[in-house]
Amino acid sequence: MAIAVLPEHTPTGLLIAGRWTDATGQLPVQDPATQRTLAMVGDASVDDALAAVTAAAAAFPAWAARPARERAEVLRTAFELMTAELEDCARLIVLENGKAWNDAMAEARYAADFLRWFSEEAVRIEGGFRDAPAGDKTIITDHRPAGVAYLITPWNFPAAMATRKLAPALAAGCTTVLKPAEATPLTALWIAEVLRRVGVPDGTVNVITTSQPGPVSEAVLADPRVSTLSFTGSTPVGKLLLAQTAQRALTSSMELGGNAPFLVLEGADVEAAIAGAMVAKMRNGGAACTAANRFYVHASVAEAFNSGFRAALSELQVGPGIDRTNDLGAMVSLEERDKITSLLDTAAEEGGEVAACSTAPEHGAFLAPHLVTGVEHGSVLTRHEVFGPVVPIVVYEAQDEVIRMANDTEYGLISYVFGPDPGTGIAVARQLESGMVAIDRGMISDAAAPFGGMKESGIGREGGFHGIHEFLETRYLGVSL
Ligand code: NAP
Repeated sequence: MAIAVLPEHTPTGLLIAGRWTDATGQLPVQDPATQRTLAMVGDASVDDALAAVTAAAAAFPAWAARPARERAEVLRTAFELMTAELEDCARLIVLENGKAWNDAMAEARYAADFLRWFSEEAVRIEGGFRDAPAGDKTIITDHRPAGVAYLITPWNFPAAMATRKLAPALAAGCTTVLKPAEATPLTALWIAEVLRRVGVPDGTVNVITTSQPGPVSEAVLADPRVSTLSFTGSTPVGKLLLAQTAQRALTSSMELGGNAPFLVLEGADVEAAIAGAMVAKMRNGGAACTAANRFYVHASVAEAFNSGFRAALSELQVGPGIDRTNDLGAMVSLEERDKITSLLDTAAEEGGEVAACSTAPEHGAFLAPHLVTGVEHGSVLTRHEVFGPVVPIVVYEAQDEVIRMANDTEYGLISYVFGPDPGTGIAVARQLESGMVAIDRGMISDAAAPFGGMKESGIGREGGFHGIHEFLETRYLGVSL
């Protein structure tokens, strides 16, 4: 049930077997900028979730058997419809997540791009044919859809994390049950409706929203009709789910937390580094797994970098994302904002010099950008994924020391390097323990590139040529010669 004015085609029920149905319970969706309730959405029970699994299992044989070209065309049409209604998607993202309008539009575009990219990949799933080395047989390999895929997404990119999973799963021939984050379900429901409107068969995409992610997911993952899990969220929840999937030796892909270092090397172009840092840190208000979390700046450029970065941050206008002139929107909730302010308090107790660089509205989940100087490697802001507009700066002297500090974390999602020339940037990047490195750039996310982490930042890759393989089983046929 919508309470505020929401874009057309924004359902609020559960999508099961192609129909929007009411759950027994309801849960509220809040606007973090105003704290008002936007809508009540379905609060799925375990039984609702298992009904979604039943629908996905029933739809699987027909969807898997559809020619790849047809699956591709459904995804392509969904891309076109989503692109035509991009502002509706961005508006929902702003309303329930709080981010700035430009960030929401960028996310909506990025989200739509996964539909287009995987419409193109659906028809390019290659197999293999070769002679065995012993000469006794032919080795044929092909790929088949994994089956029913359970997809769990976080609140920070409610559109892009949904399409980054739905699009490759559907392209591969899987059917799906999507569970979006409780804080931001409306965008995912809107995307599911886009897919329904372009003719995705009933039961192929099911969506359950719930206030009980633990019991609901445990029941879904224990169901033998479910073949694979794709999760994006925090590392602790990812580990909990891995323990559950281990019970059934279920395949799973995990896109987890990050603690991205941002390195400014000796001789780097300081202005370019500041411009890159503004994107790497402030996109999405810092609430991105890819957000630069800790800055290591060579002593020779530290003063220029700090003062330039502070000046750039002080120009940011903080306020509701729905006002398109604001650069920085709200945090997703008051709890999330308070978590960050408490990290700032600890940073100050540890001796960091904490400075607010701009002002934020008092009401709503807003937080001004903060610069923290005098930070020691190993202190609280370098160990925690802050997930907000906070810039801790560590000054260093030697290149081997900064590589050691950058790698001194259990995470390994992304790193950023600004160096004096591309060769030095690449040489340093190759020593960093992360699945992705941005060199002289503040952002590298791209539907056409493999996204994912090393160490405790994840297992598997999404996007690129790799993403579709998370939803495929490789099969080997040995044929006598
Ligand atoms: P989260 O608390 O781990 O939640 C992620 C999803 O898991 C939500 O849908 C959540 O539902 C669900 N969940 C929570 N507890 C669960 C349980 N016991 N069993 C099954 N599902 C459960 O993460 P978040 O706070 O939403 O998102 C922020 C985190 O995601 C950060 O660590 C960020 O780095 C990471 N992230 C990673 C990537 C990547 O690609 N590597 C991308 C984006 C975000 P509820 O909403 O109902 O709690």
